[in-house]
Amino acid sequence: MTDTVLVINSGSSSVKYQLIQPDSGQQLANGMVERIGEDSSTATLKVGERTLRREGRVADHDAALRLAFELSAEAGLHLDDLDLVAVGHRVVHGGKTFYRPAVIDDAMMSKLEELAPLAPLHNPPAMVGIDVSRRILPGVPHIAVFDTAFFHDLPAAAATYAIEHDVAEKWHIRRYGFHGTSHEYVSRQAADFIERPYDSVNQIVLHLGNGASASAVADGRAVDTSMGLTPLEGLVMGTRSGDIDPGIVGYLCRTADMTIEDIDTMLNRRSGLLGLGGENDFRKLHELIENGDAAAQLAYDVYIHRLRKYVGAYLAVLGTTDIISFTAGVGENDAAVRRDALSGLAALGIELDPELNESPSRQPRRISAESSPVTVLVIPTDEELAIARACVQVVRTA
Ligand code: ADP
Repeated sequence: MTDTVLVINSGSSSVKYQLIQPDSGQQLANGMVERIGEDSSTATLKVGERTLRREGRVADHDAALRLAFELSAEAGLHLDDLDLVAVGHRVVHGGKTFYRPAVIDDAMMSKLEELAPLAPLHNPPAMVGIDVSRRILPGVPHIAVFDTAFFHDLPAAAATYAIEHDVAEKWHIRRYGFHGTSHEYVSRQAADFIERPYDSVNQIVLHLGNGASASAVADGRAVDTSMGLTPLEGLVMGTRSGDIDPGIVGYLCRTADMTIEDIDTMLNRRSGLLGLGGENDFRKLHELIENGDAAAQLAYDVYIHRLRKYVGAYLAVLGTTDIISFTAGVGENDAAVRRDALSGLAALGIELDPELNESPSRQPRRISAESSPVTVLVIPTDEELAIARACVQVVRTA
């Protein structure tokens, strides 16, 4: 029987899941339960051309996962008959402890519990998802795949914050990086695309989704990335500020009667494109801009300015790059962002082909001019497939 992996991405109010056959890359089912805990919860499941949908309150993650399995069965996919080889869980923060995919046991769960303060928005809901699915599917290995893993070996100069050493040491403060599963998947695909060995090319990967991050990869090894201790650092994002002067936090605390919680929430949820332009979705932001909205235009300009700064910084970090890849919702779909991020850089060896850049496709593709020394690619990311493949590797080498 073909190996099948259930991949679960459990967030605070949603659970996304996919059934994947990692060897062929075939996706058997793709589902999501949203607004868990609210009266307006919805569950959807796509199996081939068929979409199943349920509406109505789903009380908690336990109920959400049970409903997900019920829907799968209704669609003819009985988990017991599928002979799952593993359940893969996306875990955002592995801290210093976890840096390769590993089978989840009780000891790992207690260590993850200790890491929760490092990723308060992300790790606790993932742990609830793991806990529930271990109970529902006890006979299958559950494997954690960490978003931070690809950046575990960042050079010290890139991973270290220039703050008091003892404080950093005591509180495990370093740059961990996130979206690692995507950066690794995309950079490997990009090397394959230009038919060069992974460990012989320099690359810049721009993962631009609602969350956004950039990475520099030298000869197959991540040497810098824009996210840090938390996924707040770096590029301007949908609702996150990215880089700011850390002095802003103390200033607001002292003078604006804002608590640390208030500031944290503002920087994570009400900043970025949303905070500046009133919209965090690029499709809507472009509409506002077309209607002459100055705030939306400024949000766009700030986003592009930051992105260009990171491209320039990573060119300097790498010395020279063979590939620049765009990925995730914005990177894969928004030709204007790609154009504006890289315009006027011919002197640095980067030249887009406007027609290739504009033509939409779901496939990996080149968008740079034939004559461009740096190859610019759009590579659709697939974190779930990468997680499923990582799981199979763990199971096969166990
Ligand atoms: P995440 O996984 O971080 O939630 P995604 O990678 O799914 O995010 O990206 C979501 C974002 O992608 C949306 O907020 C929107 O800005 C952007 N996006 C999606 N489709 C398009 C499109 N066709 N054109 C422009 N932007 C798009």
